[in-house]
Amino acid sequence: MTFDVETVRKDFPILSTKMRGRDLVYLDSAASSQKPEAVISAISDFYSAHYANIHRGVYQLSAEATQRYEDVRSLVARFIGAPDPREIIFVRNATEAINLVARTWGEQQIGNGDEIVLTTMEHHANIVPWQMLAERQGASIRVAAVTDDGVLDLEHLKRLLGPRTKLLAVTAVSNALGTINPINTLTSLARDRGITTLVDGAQAAPHQSVDVKALGCDFYVLSGHKVFGPSGAGVLYGRLPLLESMPPFLGGGDMIESVSFEGTTFAPVPQKFEAGTPDIASVIGFGAAIEYLEAIGMDQISAYEQTLLTYATERLLKIPGLRIIGTAKEKAAVISFVLEDAHPHDIGTILDGEGIAIRAGHHCAQPLMKRMGVPATARASFSFYNTRDDVDSLVEALRKTQEIFA
Ligand code: PMP
Repeated sequence: MTFDVETVRKDFPILSTKMRGRDLVYLDSAASSQKPEAVISAISDFYSAHYANIHRGVYQLSAEATQRYEDVRSLVARFIGAPDPREIIFVRNATEAINLVARTWGEQQIGNGDEIVLTTMEHHANIVPWQMLAERQGASIRVAAVTDDGVLDLEHLKRLLGPRTKLLAVTAVSNALGTINPINTLTSLARDRGITTLVDGAQAAPHQSVDVKALGCDFYVLSGHKVFGPSGAGVLYGRLPLLESMPPFLGGGDMIESVSFEGTTFAPVPQKFEAGTPDIASVIGFGAAIEYLEAIGMDQISAYEQTLLTYATERLLKIPGLRIIGTAKEKAAVISFVLEDAHPHDIGTILDGEGIAIRAGHHCAQPLMKRMGVPATARASFSFYNTRDDVDSLVEALRKTQEIFA
């Protein structure tokens, strides 16, 4: 099946809505992606005909809901190349997944004087939980530099990996610049030195196929809402022996084997990490998103987005006074930019008036903004439902913005 963007667009009801009297141009998929009808109807159908709590009912409805929920676990495992569905832990989002690892594995493995290596291009979600952990444990954070192009400085990173380094936590794709990091190289550097790796896949999973086994990472996290699923369902992948050796995160129902006031024993992985009633319907919706993506093919999606990225980059660079922040060779379809004289927030507001949704600000990556020498950027992030027309609308609106500020 060849990729046809017009066919794809019909699958996303919101894309045919109007915004400020114009066709909506949605260029903020890095913040959260739009949802295809398949996802919306899977959630509605689940609530209309199949809803019950999971893992506890003796009746058929609950048994079926449990089966559907567990089927999504297997689907996610296949989608990201995890060898065993028990390696998939459902959480709310990537942020929660990272905090889970920090609170469990981190408190168990990281002690006084140990080091955690991050990069300058991390999202706050992959900075703050480690800072909090480091403070609790007396550990320290070391930060690998990025170049002026927004590329990870590998030589600097290598120098940071020392005998006290316990963890390398790195994003696969920068949300603010689009830079794609060489994860295989990084995990093999870490493995050679006995360092555990956590890959933040929040911005990678929507754009490229993921194979955690081939990546060789210990942990991988993602948010379902950026991968065309509903908000409320995210994933922590962890290698099974690691997950099995980790203490539980939240305590409560569903994560135990037996409870008495003398002591509690815990359920095996993955239940050990899934206390309480999860966002069942969101997990079901996420499953529908994966099936939808698999039917199109992540490779087709990547290839299409790369052509769109090239087109958008070429057109934007022709706008005088526009500077792209983040010019790595390997990029996902994300373009951060600044315009001479216009503040990114003003650009965002003016574009909104034209029905164009972009993001403006620091993108939860303040250390990176500081490194790139800008307080904020405007960011257009593309998905496989965006078109060249969307790019043209963006360019036209930016030209108008410039006239206003000229
Ligand atoms: N990491 C990266 C690279 C992100 O872009 C984001 C979301 N912007 C997150 C982590 C956090 O995702 P969430 O808010 O869904 O937890």
